[in-house]
Amino acid sequence: MSVLRSVILAAADSHRLQRLVQKYGFRLGASRFVAGETLDDAVPVLRRLNGEGLLTNTTLLGEGVRDEAETAAVVSAYREALDRIHTEGLRTNVALKLTALGLSIDEELAHRNVGEVAAHAATRGNSVRIDMEESGHVEATLRIYRGLRESGHDNVGAVLQSYLYRSENDLAALLPLAPNLRLVKGAYLEPPEVAYPQKGDVDAAYVRLLEASLGGEGFTAVATHDETLIEHAIAFAREHGIPNERFQFQMLYGVRPRLQLELVGRGFDVLVATPYGPEWYRYLMRRLAERPANLLFLLRNLVRG
Ligand SMILES: Cc1cc2nc3c(=O)[nH]c(=O)nc-3n(C[C@H](O)[C@H](O)[C@H](O)COP(=O)(O)OP(=O)(O)OC[C@H]3O[C@@H](n4cnc5c(N)ncnc54)[C@H](O)[C@@H]3O)c2cc1C
Repeated sequence: MSVLRSVILAAADSHRLQRLVQKYGFRLGASRFVAGETLDDAVPVLRRLNGEGLLTNTTLLGEGVRDEAETAAVVSAYREALDRIHTEGLRTNVALKLTALGLSIDEELAHRNVGEVAAHAATRGNSVRIDMEESGHVEATLRIYRGLRESGHDNVGAVLQSYLYRSENDLAALLPLAPNLRLVKGAYLEPPEVAYPQKGDVDAAYVRLLEASLGGEGFTAVATHDETLIEHAIAFAREHGIPNERFQFQMLYGVRPRLQLELVGRGFDVLVATPYGPEWYRYLMRRLAERPANLLFLLRNLVRG
């Protein structure tokens, strides 16, 4: 499985594959994981999920922009999304990638851009989560997160990945800020120099992060579809008298929808990450790598035509 995961993640860089998948993928089943190509497509999906008792976030898909003007367009798109969320009365916040806001071009540019989105979100009573990307971006991403918090942006959250060796230290350093943290296992292809190669170690590290974060003063978003970890979080919170308001579960649109509703039925907050946008290719490839059976789902649709 881990070989297949690496092959899929490596294949994600192929331009030929990208052209092919972009051409047919949405019709073939990418729509299971992506709410649509435009904000207009995404709004009814977000409304439906909210109607089922689920919280949502949304992301304009796209990573690695090339110039400053492109990042300005992404900032405008997030301002527009935040305005629309407000007027539609959706229970939706936004999650974004700093590379879409210029992190690979200039850290200061990405910092300014995310600060602008966060400030706009605050005027709409909303919040912003900064996704975590490849390990090479972690240091700058956490620096920007800290900078935002120090300049008074309290409506910003961050993400830590349990596959990275460094994440436990990062968490310890962040806890005094009472951070709003999403904990994930990690979705990228990382070398053994920086990340646990074995799934068992990644899961064990997740438990350590989870307990440390829940035991702190902040808010913990338990972002996993792993039922063992979800039940562990619930048991740990009960045992330590941590109220439901101090954490929530987060899952991806199209993944384990029954489990999402079951947790809502048990009285927990569940947020469904529900992205949209024309540049859904890399996002889809990461979803396929996480569960190669998803590849069969796409291929079945291809055969059915
Ligand atoms: C809300 C949210 C936000 C995230 N943000 C980030 C981020 O900022 N940075 C980052 O690196 N990663 C992010 N991820 C992805 C994360 O790192 C994992 O790659 C992903 O969640 C799969 O790991 P898992 O915890 O669900 O556990 P796994 O052990 O991979 O899976 C547990 C079970 O969940 C089911 N499952 C998992 N993934 C899928 C799938 N794609 N399709 C169908 N079933 C599946 C399977 O039944 C599997 O047995 C995010 C995930 C979520 C849910």
